[in-house]
Amino acid sequence: APRDSSQAAGFHVPEVEVKFTRLFINGEFVDSLSGKEFETIDPRTGDTIARVAEGDKEDVNRAVRAARESFDDGPWPRLSGYERGRIMMKFGDLVEENLEELAMLDAIEGGKLLGLVKGMEIPIAVRLLRYYAGAADKIHGEVLKMSGNFHAYTLREPVGVVGHIIPWNSPSLMFFFKVSPALAAGCTMIVKPAEQTSLSALYYAHLAKQAGIPDGVINVVTGYGPTAGAAISHHMDIDMVSFTGSTEVGRLVMQASATSNLKIVSLELGGKSPLLIFDDADVDMAADLALQGVLANKGEVCVASSRVYVQEGIYEEFEKKVVEKVKAWTVGDPFDPNVHQGPQTDKPQFDKIMSYIGHGKREGARLLAGGESIGTKGFYIKPTIFADVKDDMTIAKDEIFGPVMSLMKFKTTEEAIRRANETRYGLAAGVVTRDINVANRVSRSVRAGIVWLNCYMVFDLDCPFGGFKMSGFGKDMGMDGLHKYLHVKSVVTPIFDSPW
Ligand code: NAD
Repeated sequence: APRDSSQAAGFHVPEVEVKFTRLFINGEFVDSLSGKEFETIDPRTGDTIARVAEGDKEDVNRAVRAARESFDDGPWPRLSGYERGRIMMKFGDLVEENLEELAMLDAIEGGKLLGLVKGMEIPIAVRLLRYYAGAADKIHGEVLKMSGNFHAYTLREPVGVVGHIIPWNSPSLMFFFKVSPALAAGCTMIVKPAEQTSLSALYYAHLAKQAGIPDGVINVVTGYGPTAGAAISHHMDIDMVSFTGSTEVGRLVMQASATSNLKIVSLELGGKSPLLIFDDADVDMAADLALQGVLANKGEVCVASSRVYVQEGIYEEFEKKVVEKVKAWTVGDPFDPNVHQGPQTDKPQFDKIMSYIGHGKREGARLLAGGESIGTKGFYIKPTIFADVKDDMTIAKDEIFGPVMSLMKFKTTEEAIRRANETRYGLAAGVVTRDINVANRVSRSVRAGIVWLNCYMVFDLDCPFGGFKMSGFGKDMGMDGLHKYLHVKSVVTPIFDSPW
């Protein structure tokens, strides 16, 4: 039924129709075996949007049986790459046709700007699906000349049944980061969306079926991490887990692999990404990059530029600039096109960010802007900037995953590199300078999976993305993102009477 949120005074009242709330297993929407459900919440108000089936171990078992059967005996891995690609293209068209409705679901569950989801995230997700659709018929091995009278070739074969465990910050993007290359490879899969944002994943399952993806290839089990998620990571019949989420849970996923069947693990984890701004930078441009880098999607971005290091010559000017610019940054209803920042995704996330802001204040950082929540309804936080942050303060070390910038001053390039690398994470980094030598030197020295020079948070389909250090391993996007779903098999044979 159309949602009535008229009680949410002062808010736009989007008509969001929730069509799919049950598990998707073997091509059908079904209740969870326990019959349990959980509530999905509108972070603007704290109101319930819908009740969603709560999957658990037995539901994961059902989904794995379907995926296993469709991998071992079903058509998907046996279709030509061209055919798989053709069906994936159809899937992409259907996503595009239903863009409005899908965007509403991510925006309302995640407190995400409707414009961001509709104008960027889902369009990128569709392009990603098409990119991998185009790659599906270009998967091939190599021919190897061996010593002696032998000849070998390699095959790239799908790894099998994959469990995708994804976070809530960009539900549609994360779904297609994982599902698109796995489909192209010929894998079958179980997707467990984050409990905060289940609705678009279920809708995508429905569209996949309409597009002609055979039953059992994509299964979606909604539910909680320690139950449904853990059942995936511990499962004896899943060949790989592709996980995006926190470093803490990533560690559990890897442990579960080690104690079950040694399934392949790919981890895209947290970050504490440095943005290094040098004296020769255009201060205005640098301030914009820094703010966008940490405030986009209310700071709930794994690559957020949460540590901003500014060289001493421009430090004061930079500080004035960000304070002036942040005043124009509006927080409010994510359905309002004039708003820059919506509510944090849920109450625990809100509480966690507020507690970090408390740490910042207590540990002696100087508050330049924000530092408090807004209103009593929903999970809104003012964009917050701390200066005089020391590298050993909690806010400089931990991933906050919220709209909180830590500003630090540095003197030399060596110092900037050393301090940028003084973190357990290594997801992304940014450098702002006009000096090509500094840019090259820093980008080679920073231990991070992606370095943005004079830009920030720029992604494209062909550009692999994934971390170093405790930000995980394994890439999404690009051909690396496809290869992780493929095993390399070598086939060796003697050649008799070879002329050479
Ligand atoms: P989270 O780790 O709590 O949850 C991620 C997913 O794991 C959810 O689906 C959750 O239900 C599931 N999960 C929770 N406990 C589990 C368990 N014991 N076993 C199996 N699965 C379990 O992370 P989150 O708070 O939802 O997301 C925020 C984190 O994700 C941040 O640290 C952020 O940096 C990271 N992130 C990383 C990337 C990236 O590409 N590197 C992208 C987005 C988010």
